Amino acid sequence: MKDFAKIKAQFPIFKSNKKLVYLDSAATALKPKCVIDAINDYYTNCGANVHRGMYDLSEKATDMYEGARKTVQKFINAKSEREIIFTSGTTESINFVALGWGGQNLKSGDEIILSALEHHSNLLPWQKIAKEKNCVIKFVDVDKNGILKIDHFSKLMSRKTKIVALTHVSNVLGTINPIKKFIQKAHAISAKVLIDAAQSAPHMSLDVQSLDCDFLAFSGHKMGGPTGVGVLYAKEKILETTEPLFTGGSMTIEVTKNHAKWNDLPWKFEAGTPKVAEVIGLGAAINWLNEIGMDEVRSHDEKLIEFALQELKKIKGIRLYGPCNPKIQSGTISFNLEGVHPHDLASILNSENIAIRAGHHCCMPLMESLNTEATARISFYIYNTEEDIKKLVLAINKAKKIFVI
Ligand code: PMP
Repeated sequence: MKDFAKIKAQFPIFKSNKKLVYLDSAATALKPKCVIDAINDYYTNCGANVHRGMYDLSEKATDMYEGARKTVQKFINAKSEREIIFTSGTTESINFVALGWGGQNLKSGDEIILSALEHHSNLLPWQKIAKEKNCVIKFVDVDKNGILKIDHFSKLMSRKTKIVALTHVSNVLGTINPIKKFIQKAHAISAKVLIDAAQSAPHMSLDVQSLDCDFLAFSGHKMGGPTGVGVLYAKEKILETTEPLFTGGSMTIEVTKNHAKWNDLPWKFEAGTPKVAEVIGLGAAINWLNEIGMDEVRSHDEKLIEFALQELKKIKGIRLYGPCNPKIQSGTISFNLEGVHPHDLASILNSENIAIRAGHHCCMPLMESLNTEATARISFYIYNTEEDIKKLVLAINKAKKIFVI
């Protein structure tokens, strides 16, 4: 059992904002000192570009950058570093798959299956390519608890299904989807599967070989890493036959006036100067998570969800969305309070130093399914404590007194 008070002490933000109760980690997680130090160290003591210079500092930068790739590979148990591509985040990773792989492989009449839970990042790139290629998008329904209906998925699948793109964990409801079952079903009809792991990679251990997904996308900033960096995992055999979406420096081994030969994997997909400092920072975040242990992270999460659900349920007029079950819920709870608009609630909580998110959470179609325009959302990470939840409940009750007569 880890000492989570000691873990919280590693976040400098709580020194400059002593009263802060940060409940918006699904938007972005706060950064531990070791990550800030790793970025600072790169700029202070190295600063060179990677893969180019024949001098010590550039070699050092390359070692740190490629070392982080190895760290990511192990973190998700990919077979090879060749399968790890650094992007700017989940959004860019999904765009790479939809526009790059999809642009090359989708044809008129092909079908794409998404779900009602998807973040706009795992919807709009598919809408774009579907329009361009004349493909059809179908959506797996969620039940009243925000759980994907696997039977409905079975009905949607056909021999026209070419790709299934699903979120692992909902950023609104926290639902942990049984994605392995979906992947197996999709593979039975030879469809490819992309997993949006933006909300799962920070909270639980992932094993892409056991999942057998074809693509997996996540962002560094939601797991204590810096903004501006993310990962696209893809099976090597898919990457080998996929053309790069972007071209430019570093991704070639030979260029003439009329022709270019692509670099080896994974560099053929990393055109231009990469996000060197950010990748190094992401590597530091993953090393730090490994030290804590992803099972500890998940179990801390589960305990907080359980406690928060128990305390929130005591508030009269609260409506909780999602599974309301810590075993299949990760990090996030959405709710509404009768008589108080979520934006008003967020601003009252802000005056109590409590940061929450209110709105549609980039999931407008899900809001429609839930029959609401917006929810209040709290989301946790390893620096949160039961004390934070007690303060939240007190502040919600205060808001009720202001708004509900
Ligand atoms: N998918 C999900 C489930 C998310 O929660 C988010 C971020 N809120 C994204 C995709 C997009 O991530 P990013 O903005 O880091 O690209």
